[in-house]
Amino acid sequence: MLIKSAKFLISATDYKKCPKQPLPEYAFIGRSNVGKSSLINMLTNHSHLAKTSGKPGKTQTINHFIINENWYLVDLPGYGYAKTSKSKKVELGTIIETYLKFRENLTCVFVLIDIRHEALYNDLQFMEWLGENEIPFIIIFTKADKLSPSQIHIAVEKYKSTLLESWEELPQYFVTSSETRQGREEVLNFIERTNTS
Ligand code: GDP
Repeated sequence: MLIKSAKFLISATDYKKCPKQPLPEYAFIGRSNVGKSSLINMLTNHSHLAKTSGKPGKTQTINHFIINENWYLVDLPGYGYAKTSKSKKVELGTIIETYLKFRENLTCVFVLIDIRHEALYNDLQFMEWLGENEIPFIIIFTKADKLSPSQIHIAVEKYKSTLLESWEELPQYFVTSSETRQGREEVLNFIERTNTS
């Protein structure tokens, strides 16, 4: 997909205040520092479309961008960061939870995972929560340039085997780097293929 235009539209604290036009929507989420802003900027060919926040984890708004005038890209705040959680419930926060559950035109959520990290409890819980709520998602491994091809292979296989402990089928995934632009075409082609507008 060629990116012809990418514009910031609105920051909302409530899914009801999100743009009304029913365009297909793709949301990006992940722990702070996972490389979300860099990925959004790389995908859209903008150096500053998504702002890197000086205060990690503090962005609490749903940020809408319109791409090529025919799909929305959404930058979501991160989800619960507590290392140990007493309940098995993922700590999402009402803003994200209601957005994900009730935003009707949400086509897919991209869950960003730093390829160098072991599978983290909150990420796994979050994906389980998405599954329980029948919200389609895809994993995007970020920062692939930090590993060699063989290390990438090992990291992905390890992540897959952890996922298979709770999933019968593996979610689709892409391996990306905002430095080398690896994975850009794959992610954009996926969006193009699934964009029904
Ligand atoms: P966010 O908090 O998830 O939005 O993460 P940022 O996009 O602000 O990135 C956090 C840090 O990781 C910054 O120092 C980025 O330069 C770095 N970073 C992000 N993506 C990549 C990548 O693909 N490769 C490398 N080497 N560094 C990256």
